[in-house]
Amino acid sequence: MIFDKLLRIGFPALCASLTLLLGVNAYSLYSAQADYLHKDQLERSVLYDTLRFNTTALEKLIARYSALKSPEDAAEAGKTYEALLNAFETWPSDAYSEIVGPSDYIQDKLVHIVRTSNRLKPFLDTLDDQTSVSNALIILQGIGSSLQQINQMVTQEAAKQMSAARKTFHFHQIVQDALVVVFLLVSLGWIWFSNKRSQVLQGQAEASREQTRLLEHRLDHDGVTGLVNSRVFAEIVRSTHETLAPDQTLSILNIDLESRLPAINKFSLVTEEAILASTADLLRHAVDRMEGVNCLARSGGKGFLLMTVNDEEVGLTASVVANRIHDIFLRPVPTALGSFLISPAIGYADSSTVERDATDIIRNADLAVGNAVSYSRRRVVTYEPAMRAEMERRTIVENALARAIEANECLPHFQPQFNLMTGRIFGVEALARWYHSELGWISPSEFIPIAERNGDIVSLGWKILETSCSEVQLLPSDLSLSVNLSVAQILSDDVVAMLDECLGRTGLPASRLKLEVTETTLMSDLRRIQTTLVELRSLGIGISLDDFGVGYSALSYLTDFDWDEIKIDRSFATKAVKDRKIRDILKMVLGIAETMGSDVLIEGIETVEQRDVLVDLGCANGQGYLFGGPMAIDDITTLFFSENGQRSFAGI
Ligand code: C2E
Ligand code: MG
Ligand code: MG
Repeated sequence: MIFDKLLRIGFPALCASLTLLLGVNAYSLYSAQADYLHKDQLERSVLYDTLRFNTTALEKLIARYSALKSPEDAAEAGKTYEALLNAFETWPSDAYSEIVGPSDYIQDKLVHIVRTSNRLKPFLDTLDDQTSVSNALIILQGIGSSLQQINQMVTQEAAKQMSAARKTFHFHQIVQDALVVVFLLVSLGWIWFSNKRSQVLQGQAEASREQTRLLEHRLDHDGVTGLVNSRVFAEIVRSTHETLAPDQTLSILNIDLESRLPAINKFSLVTEEAILASTADLLRHAVDRMEGVNCLARSGGKGFLLMTVNDEEVGLTASVVANRIHDIFLRPVPTALGSFLISPAIGYADSSTVERDATDIIRNADLAVGNAVSYSRRRVVTYEPAMRAEMERRTIVENALARAIEANECLPHFQPQFNLMTGRIFGVEALARWYHSELGWISPSEFIPIAERNGDIVSLGWKILETSCSEVQLLPSDLSLSVNLSVAQILSDDVVAMLDECLGRTGLPASRLKLEVTETTLMSDLRRIQTTLVELRSLGIGISLDDFGVGYSALSYLTDFDWDEIKIDRSFATKAVKDRKIRDILKMVLGIAETMGSDVLIEGIETVEQRDVLVDLGCANGQGYLFGGPMAIDDITTLFFSENGQRSFAGI
């Protein structure tokens, strides 16, 4: 800052001022020099005049004539006298006048000298007379003395003026020299400072270039793994695709860690980053040795993207690369924070699936991995065009869902629950139904997972709960109502208050309501959910464990909570008929449930045969198409209150 001010203002101003001073002083120096030379000239003129206005020569000639009587001396004396008189006519000279200016004293002296000189003439004409000689000499001595006085005065004044002029001249010379030295020093300072400043600026420019380079690197690369990011990857794919030979195939692999490692979301950020960084290292190492793998990148989510180019002779096919990568993860991934067993989902697509843009391949690989995650039990999935249609339908459903919930298009249907021994309906399960004006009926298996992913499940869940609590009151008052509760609802802070409020508003007694939660729901946060369920039970609401047997089926889930009801997944109803082992397992679960004091209900009973087997095993309650699928409230009301209305399954 101070450097800048000095360079921008200080030095230029100083140099300009010094230049001005140098100019002014040069002018004064020039004038002083001229004055000095002039005064010198004057002094010399004055000295010359002192020689001219001198009576000594005339005195010598008179004295010599008096002694030798030489007529030449007399003539010479006459001539010298005339010259003296002539000289007096031009006296005082200009130089005298300039030195002393108009002086009455000199003027008087001069008049006196000239008058006295005129008195000499008669004595000079009579030099043979010794008295004349004496008189002439006396007069001459008087004139000489006066002249000497004047000369002395003028020469002293001339010397004084000349000395003053010389001093002035020398003073300006010294000033000029000093100014030149200062000017040079300031200029050198300016140059030095400019140099320093430009060094500093160069340093700053270098630093900012470095920073720009770092920023550019950060913009293009992922900070955790150091790999290029998905944006750069897309550019590489696009440019590689443009130069692809007709016999070559470009494939993209999407390796997704998040979906197949639910726990990754529970890890701290540090652990998650350690896993991602180590996985990146493993992949880097692996792809270095795979022919045809051109680019490894970090995907937008918790995963990686890989590009391969191969033809019939060179390079590996995407399927081979995908399987090799899959095999890498058969062993735990070592990280600085410990080893983790992860099993990524891998989806891949190749350039034959491109429709418009090369980046379609990336999107197709993305669809493939999404499919592997959500719908397929396989870990390596190749893209198929049907996936695009599914995705498009999912998008349509997703976009329409929020509005449908708002417009009460999603309504509960009720599926009866039966006592298998008596055939009597003792309850109903509320199951969401959605009729879309263009797509028709949309199954909850389709829209519930979508709603769970985008958070719409909470508002949907509360609407179904409230509507079913109201509508079930149109049915006989001893019927129980089962409602499915999603994980997002259970985890919301006000779940207990919401349920209490809902029962108060609809007037349904808490003892008639049962809430169904699944094993997967419990897995998300067992302790917290158990606490909430205890609070809900304390309101008098019954709690059911839904779909038991499809998840991890840990016995601890059965025994760690006092379930009012355990609903066994429908797959058991089908398998129990043919599989003895399944029947044994069912027996065991029924035993545990009895010990725990929980009711058991088997879902998905479709045939009489299934029902008979299950009755033999001791199952008391069931639900399934054999007895009736989910029905709209009007239909189920008719079932109960029509003239030949029934509460029992006719087949029993
Ligand atoms: P769930 O709670 O296990 O519901 C039972 C599912 O089995 C229902 O499918 C029902 O229609 C079906 N089902 C009943 N009997 C039979 C049978 O004999 N054979 C076969 N194959 N299926 C039978 P749905 O209605 O498609 O519901 C699917 C799942 O969607 C439900 O499974 C439940 O987890 C979820 N869901 C449905 N409605 C809601 C809701 O309002 N809230 C929440 N959170 N989830 C819901
Ligand atoms: Mg259910
Ligand atoms: Mg179920």
